[in-house]
Amino acid sequence: MSFLEELGAWPRARIEALIERARPEDVAAAIAREQRTPEDLCAMLSPHAQACLEPMAAEARRLTRWHFGRTIGMYAPIYISNVCGADCVYCGYAVRSGNRERRLNLSAAEIRAECAALAAEGYQNVLLLTGEARRAAPVSYIAEAVAIAREFFPSVSVEVYSLDEDEYRLLCQRGLEGVTLYMETYDPTVYQAVHLKGQKTDYRYRLDAIERAGRAGARRLSIGALLGLTDWRIDGFWTALHGRYLQRACWQSAVSVSFPRLLHTPARFSIPHLVTDAELVQLMLAVRLFLPEAGFNLSTRERAEFRDHLIPLGVTMMSAGSSTRPGGYATHVDETLEQFAIEDRRPPAKVVEAIRAQGYEPVWKDFDYAFDETSSR
Ligand code: SF4
Repeated sequence: MSFLEELGAWPRARIEALIERARPEDVAAAIAREQRTPEDLCAMLSPHAQACLEPMAAEARRLTRWHFGRTIGMYAPIYISNVCGADCVYCGYAVRSGNRERRLNLSAAEIRAECAALAAEGYQNVLLLTGEARRAAPVSYIAEAVAIAREFFPSVSVEVYSLDEDEYRLLCQRGLEGVTLYMETYDPTVYQAVHLKGQKTDYRYRLDAIERAGRAGARRLSIGALLGLTDWRIDGFWTALHGRYLQRACWQSAVSVSFPRLLHTPARFSIPHLVTDAELVQLMLAVRLFLPEAGFNLSTRERAEFRDHLIPLGVTMMSAGSSTRPGGYATHVDETLEQFAIEDRRPPAKVVEAIRAQGYEPVWKDFDYAFDETSSR
């Protein structure tokens, strides 16, 4: 069964009805259970669960420590291109965003310089990003960037436009470890309304892309919905369902979930379903209890003090000192168009301090690679 078929069994109306019907005792039963069903997930996403955030947080802490210990992996994004022909209405890189700042592809030398700057900070795990520009930033360009990044880092992932399976395989052959690909929203109607141009308008091609990456050999698969496009409870449910599906369909890959929340958007787009801090916390806790073995990534989109508060609630990976513009670390600092404004502007050393203050250990080294004899390193 494809994920689209599984999704078809969980239409919005069914999820809404389950959330609506959930009673406080359903929330308590869901928290107490060893393994949670989709119905339990609905209970934990319901308004009644707001009164149960403490026990949910205690269970989330227990599960995360059991599966991941008291460690937080550190990573950094490297935007290698901000050229984009797509028109996603919420994004600063969109071709019709109205932004006139400089767009470019980093050269091989510039990618090397960006990598060197981050390696000097101690990073061993990076995420390479582009817009959607198959001609300006073709797969061969991304493959070359992966190979360059592997000269500096044992763990390299990409967040680029959706690819065919053989294209993901090519990237894996150049040393790629992970693929991050957010569906943005799983609601097909909302999806069509916010994706106006480019390959990204193809809902089905994007929905299946992360599974293609898993089949091609990507060992880390990261998913997420862009919170704010529609009701967070519904997209949160579908994201968790997708995570569970991928854990089964791509069992050789580690699946992780991100919770990107829309905070800053281009002037032409106002966020239709703003998500509050308390709602984001509830969503993360509910998904942690539903997917105990999934990694949780937390980016610098969120405020520093809020990120610190989230650390013990299920987070396993954090970025720090991030730039969302190409060349933002070494070669074009402040010169190029950024994708979105970040909130947590602390340097990595300060974030590390905050992680330690919560009793967690920041981890720079990728231990999976250290112990994996099949690694191409
Ligand atoms: S979300 Fe991605 S594809 Fe869409 S406009 Fe932004 S960079 Fe381009």
